[in-house]
Formats: sequence, C-alpha cells, structure tokens
Amino acid sequence: MKKTKELEKTLKLTPKPVWDRLSAGERKKALTFSKGYKSFLDASKTEREAVASIVAAAKKKGFTEAMTDASPRYLLTNREKNVALAVLGERPLTEGVRIVVSHIDAPRLDLKQNPIYEDVELTLLRTHYYGGIKKYHWVAIPLAIHGTLIKKDGTKLSLTIGEDDKDPVFTICDLLPHLSHKVQDSKRLREAIAGEKLTILAGSIPFPDEEAKERFKLNILELLNKRWGLIEEDFLSAEIEVVPAFKARDIGFDESLIGGYGQDDRVCAYCSLQALLSLEERPTQTSIALFLDKEEIGSDGNTGAKSTFLEIVLSDLFRLAGQSPTSDAIRQALFHSKALSADVNGAINPNYQDVHEKQNAARIGYGVCLTKFTGSGGKYNANDATAEYVGEIRRLFNEKGVIWQMAELGKVDEGGGGTIAKYLAKYGMDMIDCGTALLGMHSPFEVSSKLDVYETFKAFKAFYEG
Ligand code: MN
Ligand code: MN
Repeated sequence: MKKTKELEKTLKLTPKPVWDRLSAGERKKALTFSKGYKSFLDASKTEREAVASIVAAAKKKGFTEAMTDASPRYLLTNREKNVALAVLGERPLTEGVRIVVSHIDAPRLDLKQNPIYEDVELTLLRTHYYGGIKKYHWVAIPLAIHGTLIKKDGTKLSLTIGEDDKDPVFTICDLLPHLSHKVQDSKRLREAIAGEKLTILAGSIPFPDEEAKERFKLNILELLNKRWGLIEEDFLSAEIEVVPAFKARDIGFDESLIGGYGQDDRVCAYCSLQALLSLEERPTQTSIALFLDKEEIGSDGNTGAKSTFLEIVLSDLFRLAGQSPTSDAIRQALFHSKALSADVNGAINPNYQDVHEKQNAARIGYGVCLTKFTGSGGKYNANDATAEYVGEIRRLFNEKGVIWQMAELGKVDEGGGGTIAKYLAKYGMDMIDCGTALLGMHSPFEVSSKLDVYETFKAFKAFYEG
C-alpha cells in the first residue's frame, strides 16, 4: 500500500492549489502585491493611461529615453499607446534577448466620429464597440468616458469623466422586461442587442431658446464648448473610449479574488512591469517588457504587434550597447531571443464547466498558466511552442519555485482564441503563452485570484533572471 502511494506521488501529475503551497510569508507578499495591482487597474483603463502609468513607474526607477545617457535602463513609447522597457544585459544582443510581451488595450465601446444626436428629448452618443464584447454586458451599468481630442487648432485635450466620485457617469438604457418579449427575449443572445443600440445617455436639458433646432443636442454642445472649448467637429479627430465607471475591488468573504475591468491583459502588463523593475543588477541577457496596443482587434495598426516597433527598439538597444544596428544583427538578435506571450487564459467557470475539458483547463488558484498552443479548429492560427522550449520554461519555473499549471482554452471543438504569440514568433524566437487565469474574461468585471496574479509576477521575474 505504501509503495502504491509513493508511486502515485512520483508518477502522477496531481496539481494542488496555490493556497496549499504558499508559505505564510509568501501569502502576505501576494496580498500586498494585489494592492498595487488594483491601483494600476484603476489608473489604467485605456491603453494611453496604461502607457502613462508604466512610464511613470519606469522613470522612477531610472528608465530613460535619452540614448546619450550611459544608463542600461531604456524606455521608448510609441504614439502614447504602446511602450517598451529594457534593461541592457551583459551578453551581446545578437545572442538574443528575453521578452515578455503583453497588451494594454481591452474590449470597450468607442464613440463614433460623429457621435452626438438627440431623440425623444434626450441627448445621446453613438458608439462602435472595440474587440470581443458581449453586448448585454454594457447596458444598465455606470460608464465613464476617457478621451483624447485634437482640436481645430491642433491642441490636444485629454478628458476623463466618470471616475471621480464627484463626476457624473454615463449609461446605456436597457429595455424593461415587461416589453422585451419580442424585441429581445426571443432572439439569440448575440442578436438581442444590436451594435447601433449601444448609445450612451448624455443629457436631458434643452437649450433655453425654443426657436433653436435640436435644442437638446445644442445644450450639450454649448456646455462642452464653455467647459473645454470644444466644437462638434473636434469629435471627428478624437479617440473617446467608454469603459466601466467602477473601480477594481476585492471579491469574496475571504477577499481572495480581484474583480475589475481590463484585467485581460493588464494583469500581465502589471506583472511584467513589476518583474522588469525588480531587476536590480544587469541581467545576463537584455530583458525587455513590451506593452502593445490593438491585440483585441487583430494586432494591426502602427501600435500593434504587427508593427515594426520591436525592430526599432532593438535598433536603439544596439546603439545603446555601442554596436552597429545592421538589419542582419537585428535579425540575429530576434531569431535567438526567447519570449513569453503574456496573456490571460479562461479558468473553469462553475456554471459552464462543459465548455472545458477539465484535465487540460485552467483553474483559479492553481498558479500562472502556461499555454503551449492557442488557436481554434485544430490549432489553426496557433504558435504551438516546441517541446524543448516548454521543457526549458518548465525547468526554470520548477527551479525558481513558481507555481504553474498547463492549460488550453476550452474543449477542442468549442471555440478558441489567439494571442500576440504568433506575430513575434515569426522572427524565429522561442515563444510560449504564459499568463493569469480569469473568470468572466472580456466582461466589464473580470475576476482573478490574488495568488495567481502573484505567481504570474514570480514567473516573469524568473524568466528575466533566466
Ligand atoms: Mn488578452
Ligand atoms: Mn482579450
């Protein structure tokens, strides 16, 4: 009997939750870490705000854009919407760098370019949703507006309304159940609320002159003009994002979980930021934290993973290291690099366990997830890391005491999803997906485990330390 128990222990893979495996001291560290994380979530509800938070934290630790400076800590932002941090290592760059890449955009509603209109004595704003949302999530909740507008004279205006307790908020009015039988209830969930019906309630007082046309719209336009000097045309050259107005909160009697907007993928962004900032000395290999935009809409555009930003970063690093940034040297550096595609995974939801194949699914409270492949329909569009690289990361995490689980997203034929992994893997670097498991992913209030978040930080730190 004793021998059977020993065999079982040695041979079988039996994951245990983090709570059973962390020491009291480590638990305490994890709980402290979650406080900083929640503040980051609250301060970083858009990609621009995430960049500002990351840059502010990095500058405090001596990261600088100044290439003349002999500092080994480098920082480069791209159009205020994506950013790279690097700590120069001892080995030549052509031997490869270590990259943790996350994304800082999140599903949301964007205002249309010509958004303001009035109807039935109300002022409303038209939206176009960004990324994979479930539309019913966005009605009947308090919403905040975070915008950047370029005015007629070229000046830039940043405004946030709905985050301060004294601010008003916005909302999308849902239909009362008494009257929704035909219009909503009998339809398929994804068709029940049309994209064009996600209009934001923005006012209800008319302009005082009864002779005026569109008095409700005019009243809001006058208000915007008095307060910010805006005219309607300014909205044409603007990016105005509508996000949940609530803050990140602890969840549960035991306060073990975190609920908040945009944890996909700001959890990995925050963990990789803290991991890189924690590197005190020059690492053996140059370490890069890359924070990208546009992942939720396919990684296109000049701030997404498909742009050449990483090559520009490498080229700067070569100059900083006193080496010539030839295109061949940059190709060599990228080809010999190792990377973590730091993105979230979907944990088993107690109400919908059937969409997962549980032996291979992510669980809340079981540590950071490694995901060998993403994709859908037979690994289509997946990066699919090599066994050798999975083995290397597995050994590293085990040696450094990182608690991790191997997970795939859903049953084989259930659906699936992609990450940034494949866009960087094209350079030839070793690449694997690695990140935190979430419940309610892509909802306005995603849920993570405090201990999983901390293990994600530990994983990225271990990766940088090599
Ligand atoms: Mn993601
Ligand atoms: Mn996502």
